[in-house]
Amino acid sequence: MDDDRIAVLRRDFPILERRVNDRPLVYLDSAASGQMPEAVMAAVDDYRRHHHANVHRGAHTLSAEATDRYEAARARVARFLGAPDPRGVVFTRNATEALNLVAHAYGRSRMQPGDEVLVTVAEHHANLVPWHLLAQDHGVVVKGVGLGADGRVDLDALEAAIGPRTKIVATFHVSNVLGYVQPLRRIADAAHAVGALCVVDGAQAAPHVAIDVAAAGVDAYAFSGHKVGGPTGIGALWMRPDVLETLPPFLGGGEMIRKVEVDRSTYADIPMRFEAGTPAIAEAIGLAAALDYLDGVGMDAIWDHDRELVARALRGLDALDGVETYGPRGPDRGGIVPFNVVGVHPHDVASFLDAEGIAVRAGHHCAQPLMKALGVASTARASFWLYTTRAEVDGFVAAVAGVRDFFAGAVEPVA
Ligand code: PMP
Repeated sequence: MDDDRIAVLRRDFPILERRVNDRPLVYLDSAASGQMPEAVMAAVDDYRRHHHANVHRGAHTLSAEATDRYEAARARVARFLGAPDPRGVVFTRNATEALNLVAHAYGRSRMQPGDEVLVTVAEHHANLVPWHLLAQDHGVVVKGVGLGADGRVDLDALEAAIGPRTKIVATFHVSNVLGYVQPLRRIADAAHAVGALCVVDGAQAAPHVAIDVAAAGVDAYAFSGHKVGGPTGIGALWMRPDVLETLPPFLGGGEMIRKVEVDRSTYADIPMRFEAGTPAIAEAIGLAAALDYLDGVGMDAIWDHDRELVARALRGLDALDGVETYGPRGPDRGGIVPFNVVGVHPHDVASFLDAEGIAVRAGHHCAQPLMKALGVASTARASFWLYTTRAEVDGFVAAVAGVRDFFAGAVEPVA
């Protein structure tokens, strides 16, 4: 996207006009939460002002309008994911809850003690801890695959690790640290060869790349609304309807039942079986508006932009002595740049950048096993999205050089 196009898009995001510490905000933390376009706020506002009521319960007009909009949002999510059947879409609070749903419902009903879940070392904790919980109380075994020489997950090792006890292969689609796209088809095919499911954490892919769960051949896919420009408190799980309809509920309560007696109940069909209680209606409608917005910009255009910016940032940072960057290089990488200024704690780097109005994240990024594999305790992380400009990336690189110079000067030689 050229600079003029980005300038036009930026007008859709009111928060980008903010100043922070007397400087124009440079928001380089979209991997944590993307900013929200005005169209999403308008969709939520319109629902709240004109159509709000509880869904699926009432015979009255407002309830019908709310239900229509909520179910249209479900269909919109299905379309965004390339899923032919909206019954496979369950609204959740976020990607984390979606992955917990799979681990709970599938893991506890379909896995035996000794069965295996294969994960990668580069997973977010959201795609590790639910499997650990399953291991602790259900006796399944969680195995991990490491990085290869090129800095990507070693897919040969992953294929070799899949065996007769493997029931789940769980992987990211885009890593929240390494920023590259996992080739899902290859992993799904390897999982299916032994009858295992391929479960995908798409939290970082949904904002950046076009998703087609049918073409990728995966069995479950999770993402969060707040990373695609939608509200917090809403996310989605897509799971193959023929698998989902065989699973027991995750949570129990209203909306998810067929018949309740005082001592027993039977459960609704999918997807309602997995949506106990009143859902996040306005947030689901906001999520659908966010997906409309992204598709309006064009996922391919967004991904090309994110890749160009990452290449630009890496070129700039790699030219700086005393700055380390992480992750593989290549056209499958976009959006995310983890880095360290040697000898400076990443929290100090982030604080210094914040003083200049530049928002980056610092820490282990909920990926402690990956930090260990990279040989670092933590990193700073800049992340870009459709509204990030080339000038912002260049300013960020210059500011990192400034941080490095400041700390180099601040360390006085001991006499
Ligand atoms: N997976 C990845 C790769 C992520 O980056 C994140 C968010 N940091 C999550 C899962 C969890 O998302 P949420 O906190 O919205 O559930």
